[in-house]
Amino acid sequence: MKHPSQYKNEKVIILGLARSGVSVAKLFHKLGANVTVNDRKPREQSPEAAQLEQLGIEVICGYHPENLVDKTTALLIKNPGIPYHVSPIIDAQTNNVEVVTEVEIAYWISKAPIIGITGSNGKTTTTTLIGELLTSADLNPVVGGNIGLPLCEIASEVSSENWIVAELSSFQLKGTIAFAPKIALILNLAETHLDYHGDMQDYVASKAKILSNQTDDDIAILNWDDKITRQLMPQCKGQLFPFSLFEKLERGVFIDPPFAPIIAGDPLPNAAEEASIRSIVYRMNNDSEQQVLMPLSSLGIPGRHNAANAIAAIAACLIAGADPAKLVEPLTSFRGVEHRLEFVRTNEGVNYYNDSKATNSTATTMTIRSLSAPLVLIAGGLDRGSDYMELLPIFTDRLKGIVAVGETRHKLEHIAKLAGLDQIKIVEPKASAEETLDEAVKLASELAESGDIVLLSPACASWDMFSSYEQRGSMFKKSVHTL
Ligand code: ADP
Repeated sequence: MKHPSQYKNEKVIILGLARSGVSVAKLFHKLGANVTVNDRKPREQSPEAAQLEQLGIEVICGYHPENLVDKTTALLIKNPGIPYHVSPIIDAQTNNVEVVTEVEIAYWISKAPIIGITGSNGKTTTTTLIGELLTSADLNPVVGGNIGLPLCEIASEVSSENWIVAELSSFQLKGTIAFAPKIALILNLAETHLDYHGDMQDYVASKAKILSNQTDDDIAILNWDDKITRQLMPQCKGQLFPFSLFEKLERGVFIDPPFAPIIAGDPLPNAAEEASIRSIVYRMNNDSEQQVLMPLSSLGIPGRHNAANAIAAIAACLIAGADPAKLVEPLTSFRGVEHRLEFVRTNEGVNYYNDSKATNSTATTMTIRSLSAPLVLIAGGLDRGSDYMELLPIFTDRLKGIVAVGETRHKLEHIAKLAGLDQIKIVEPKASAEETLDEAVKLASELAESGDIVLLSPACASWDMFSSYEQRGSMFKKSVHTL
């Protein structure tokens, strides 16, 4: 493994001026590297440029200069979102220059052990929960990565008394080389981000990089129930400590009695009822006794998907050395993260929930499954080419009505018709996203009766109408509050 100080007087290129780019640029500059930062965004949209220039760092905005990267370049650090087909990265590959993301650099400099959390859905919830649990257990976590502070910023300040708790995307992991978290956690793997990765193989391989440099001293926490995640188990070099909703394990964290699998066409179980007879249990190794941590019904976040997130978080904390007794209170009081199955308000007996962060079909399916009342769904958004057939069973079993918005509105209308729904409303785009959403909320409120739920869970990214899922969720909440 290297250290940034080895790049003293060497040419280091940083692609992308976001917060992580700025922090990594400052770090390499301070240690004596010849840093150039390049961003294709025009200078007016790059307020960070000036502060770097004041430090004497060269910043080039607006385009990728030819020959930015050549054989004298020692290292290229890219923003995770930048695709691999841009010219500086192609030039780096031609000249055998290492291309990494900021996560790799954070690993080089961190004195603290790292808990890395990845997966297709549930990362932010699980990462945030681990932070809260480790705080309660006095283990000094610092949370960052894909959420919160850039990892490099954190890594340069922590000591061996801390734990870094890092949410990691497939984009970040794809750009790692030596990165080896002490505890690696893969929550689940579903088809998503294929526009960036090209195919599922590249996506899964990128996620699996979280395991590739672990050793026997490290721990891999994997979802025993997820078909694709389970296929990665033979690749684990760290010790396996799995979690499961559906099976009792010889080692790991699980639910007792285990959940029964959901069979398409069968009525879905009542979420509260099924929690009331189950416990969260753990077994540290094959010869130890199974220990009960708490009743599942005491968990503060609802639904099977959140039970999976919680047991994954518990597994990480037990491995990190947390006293189990200190985990129970925060598991009970944690209510989740904004825009993830967030309760908004009750109006005329109808409960409104904001799940704007559900940006793919799996996420929306899991959320709908965790709610028991008759449900009117508001869904739709950016069209990434999916046919949304994955939603058909849940639409058939659970929806009372749907209000479809955004680029995918007619695709969702098609699925709703296949599901036999008779309450289908389509909102054609209005002058502004706000007006479109106001109209959707109004239509959904007309379809819902007292005792029902109106849920925004779009199954799509937000960028057809909004700047982010946060903006979409906040506008939804505003609409709901003005009903
Ligand atoms: P991520 O950070 O991976 O996007 P979040 O914790 O922000 O995940 O949750 C995003 C959405 O994904 C939630 O609103 C919910 O609809 C869904 N979700 C959360 N956890 C899971 C899970 N374990 N399995 C499937 N879907 C989930």
